[in-house]
Amino acid sequence: MDYSIHQKTIHEKLTELAGNLWWSWQPDVTDIFREIDPVRWSDLSHNPIVLLREYGPDKLENRAREELLHSRIHGAYRRWLQYMRADDTWGDTHAGVLGHRPVAYFSAEFGLHESLRIYSGGLGLLAGDHLKSASDLKAPLVGMGLFYHEGYFFQTVDKDGWQREEYLVANPADLPIREAIDDDGKPILVSVETRSGKIHAKIWKVDVGRVPLYLLDTNIPENTAEDRQLTARLYGGNNRTRIRQELLLGVGGLRALTALNISPKALHMNEGHSAFATLELIRMRMKDDGLTFDDALREVAAGSVFTTHTPVAAGHDRFDSGLIEEHLSPLYSDLGLSHEAFMGLGRVDPHRMDETFCMTVLAFKTSRRANAVSNLHGVVTRRMWRALWPWRSEEEIPIGHITNGVHVPTWLAMQMRVLYDKVLPLNWHLKTGEPGVWADFEQVTPGELWETHESLKGRLIAYARHRLLRYAQRHKASEAECAKLHNVLDPQALLIGFARRFAPYKRADLVLRDIDMVADLIADDERPVQFIFGGKAHPADDLGKQIMQKIHRLAHDKRFCERIVFLEDYDINVARHLVQGVDVWLNNPRRPLEASGTSGQKVVLNGGLNLSILDGWWAEAFDGLNGFGIGTGVIHANQDVQDQRDAESLVEVLRDQVIPLYYNRDADGLPQEWIRRMKRAVRTLGWRFNADRMVMDYVTHAYVPAAGGTSSAMTVMP
Ligand SMILES: *Cc1c(COP(=O)(O)O)cnc(C)c1O
Repeated sequence: MDYSIHQKTIHEKLTELAGNLWWSWQPDVTDIFREIDPVRWSDLSHNPIVLLREYGPDKLENRAREELLHSRIHGAYRRWLQYMRADDTWGDTHAGVLGHRPVAYFSAEFGLHESLRIYSGGLGLLAGDHLKSASDLKAPLVGMGLFYHEGYFFQTVDKDGWQREEYLVANPADLPIREAIDDDGKPILVSVETRSGKIHAKIWKVDVGRVPLYLLDTNIPENTAEDRQLTARLYGGNNRTRIRQELLLGVGGLRALTALNISPKALHMNEGHSAFATLELIRMRMKDDGLTFDDALREVAAGSVFTTHTPVAAGHDRFDSGLIEEHLSPLYSDLGLSHEAFMGLGRVDPHRMDETFCMTVLAFKTSRRANAVSNLHGVVTRRMWRALWPWRSEEEIPIGHITNGVHVPTWLAMQMRVLYDKVLPLNWHLKTGEPGVWADFEQVTPGELWETHESLKGRLIAYARHRLLRYAQRHKASEAECAKLHNVLDPQALLIGFARRFAPYKRADLVLRDIDMVADLIADDERPVQFIFGGKAHPADDLGKQIMQKIHRLAHDKRFCERIVFLEDYDINVARHLVQGVDVWLNNPRRPLEASGTSGQKVVLNGGLNLSILDGWWAEAFDGLNGFGIGTGVIHANQDVQDQRDAESLVEVLRDQVIPLYYNRDADGLPQEWIRRMKRAVRTLGWRFNADRMVMDYVTHAYVPAAGGTSSAMTVMP
């Protein structure tokens, strides 16, 4: 880094800022980019690299003068340098044991920003937030993933409400990624052998504040035409694509670290996709230190951490014996294992020949520390995998939990941050994991909090109308039809949001299950409710697409069209608008299938209230007054009965609690009781369900013990 900051032009400074994703969680820097050209900023999906290229130094200089941006740019740049140089961080004090050897954090997806489309949903967002908090705390971490040049699909919805997937090829020059090169300036390549040939990849580097993220990319001439497409799409292709991607991520990822001279002190597998990484570590220990397989396995496991993310069976990759033989035989020969012995590592019962190879099982067997992502998910996960430890009782199954959290600066609206700045202690953003820091939110004046919320809600409604207009125009709607869209959603009416992947267990249509039952609530003249939906179904998930279609049809039904809205192409940008602007965030998964869920945590930060089934994080967060709970937590053996009961409970809570509380106004038009709940939510939940607290927990309870190499009994985390 060049510290001669005064010699740099503003174009140089902004280009440097655009090259590190740190800018994306700094609202003041984001605003600078926006103010340069608000229209282009929005059209470019908030991509500052392309914006700056379009402008060039001279045009930018003029524009900055017009908008009086100079001192703000210098200030932002100075702040960035300070951030990168800081040596008095949490990590400096608490992560010292890790020293200069980082934790390697492996994940198949990373949701960092809407302009870098290498994520699909919660797992990726969680990984992105993990890196950002690790950066803020200065926990020594490097990320490892894949570069998908077509990413995850763009969603369009046809007139009939059916989802269409579109893929666009990203140009690396437009993205904040740089090729990793050796001393001679040549790209660093890694390769992984299979029985049917070698897979080669090059390495991209993304700077996420202080944390480097490396992404492997097979789109290079060394590969066959087929393998050049291997990393094109996230969760695309068939099971063979999947095992090849995972082989590359795990084994290739470790080789990439070696090629980059990074020798991680601990390994963290975010979900089982990367579990082959432990095998490469074992191979290295056997080769370098002459250990036997069993000794190497024990040592590698002591340094490995595994986080499992779902109780849904389809979320656990399984490969048949043939695919394993084709892709892993070179590696397991090196380990001195027979095919059947190797298959045993991926089987609950090693001797059951009909069991396929499960990545989750491999991950459990090769890591000493394993965790679920909420308290309830811990219970469910221990039950789900207890056969792996047949000699232990359920409570003794060595799987703990660390509840997920969200990265506060990424999800907190600028206006709301102003309120935080007013009442919370100085430098609160450096101490978000401390309960005491959040207690002062009680001091916010109700009127000010309500006005801030109303303005964010207004922004969401304007955004929704704008997106709906674009949809209508694309489908050649008449002028009269388009004009009507200006009345869609009423800023004065209770607004309920629901957006997430359209996985069937999330039951996006639950509230509309008995449409006549909610029709009255929606149509109520005095106290109406309105809904805004969004989300993508996996391309192969027809059931998910049907649920989406049902909602889309209701949103275009004359009875409801002004009060039920569906937004296309749910992504980080849409999510940001939604979580910052809704009154209520609805979450109604089939308990206990939502391992944690994180979108509701984003809503809390911005003053929205959760209305949720007691599942995932909400089961440990809800205290009766910091939001609303649906159902009692009882699980019925019959799924239909369960769905019916939950739907009834949901409508009941809406009718008897949510709606009356929202419309109960004082002489100034303020819903005092409601505002009390908003404050209580921020105060009681903010400190726990944020990613700083989460990363601190990982450092303390997983990384530091793993790096210490203690091979003592498996630790159950809190
Ligand atoms: C936060 C987020 C998610 C995860 O939401 P859940 O509530 O965990 O389903 C998914 N997609 C996007 C774009 C998000 O921002």
